[in-house]
Amino acid sequence: MKKVAVAIDGPSGAGKSTISKMVAKEFGFTYVDTGAIYRTVGVYAFRNGINPCDADSVSDALKNINIEIRHENGIQCLYLNGEDVTGAIREHIISKYASDVSAIPAVRAFLLDMQREFAMRGSVIMDGRDIGTVVLPDAQIKIFLTATDEDRARRRYEELMLKGQDVGFEKVLADMRERDRQDSSRAVAPLVPAPDAIKVDTTGNTLEESVKIIKDIISERLSAYADL
Ligand code: C5P
Repeated sequence: MKKVAVAIDGPSGAGKSTISKMVAKEFGFTYVDTGAIYRTVGVYAFRNGINPCDADSVSDALKNINIEIRHENGIQCLYLNGEDVTGAIREHIISKYASDVSAIPAVRAFLLDMQREFAMRGSVIMDGRDIGTVVLPDAQIKIFLTATDEDRARRRYEELMLKGQDVGFEKVLADMRERDRQDSSRAVAPLVPAPDAIKVDTTGNTLEESVKIIKDIISERLSAYADL
């Protein structure tokens, strides 16, 4: 089969990671969660007392950051300078750090090749904010996933509760809106749908319903692509 790239973009909590992971398994594609990579830079800044909004300090720190992504038993694990930070990157505070550092052009440039390399090696489903617009503009399939703020915050809140992080629903909603605003309004690679992306609203859907919608879109595109 020819190499296929599926770009799934959208705001946080729209279901990108969970849906992409399940769909990738089904099609035998590698799943790449690019938010996790930005979160790893966020963890470095947090632990080293670096202001994530200070572009000079963060850019200067990049030379001390080595990030590795390993797929272990189908799970994407992130290593920061040799340490497994797969759990640490999911702390609520790191979401804000990731969003702050991701607005810095040097950080985006630093992480670009790492993301593109995955797509060069084989078929991928990659999720993030700028996959269809910047990272893989030639992806054969582009999907922009969204849902209402309340629906997305509810999902994020439930995920955090399951991990024992009770931040409170109202705080999750407010933090998420602020992060969306920041991600959508930044100068470099803002969160916007690619002009050729298919928009899917997952509001009110069960996970199974959303997975089916995405699987159907990919299957349909794949058969058209195979005919070329
Ligand atoms: O997807 P997730 O919520 O884990 O991403 C954390 C943050 O990383 C986002 O809020 C966004 O600022 C940034 N990000 C990005 N570009 C991507 C993926 C994530 O700027 N492709």
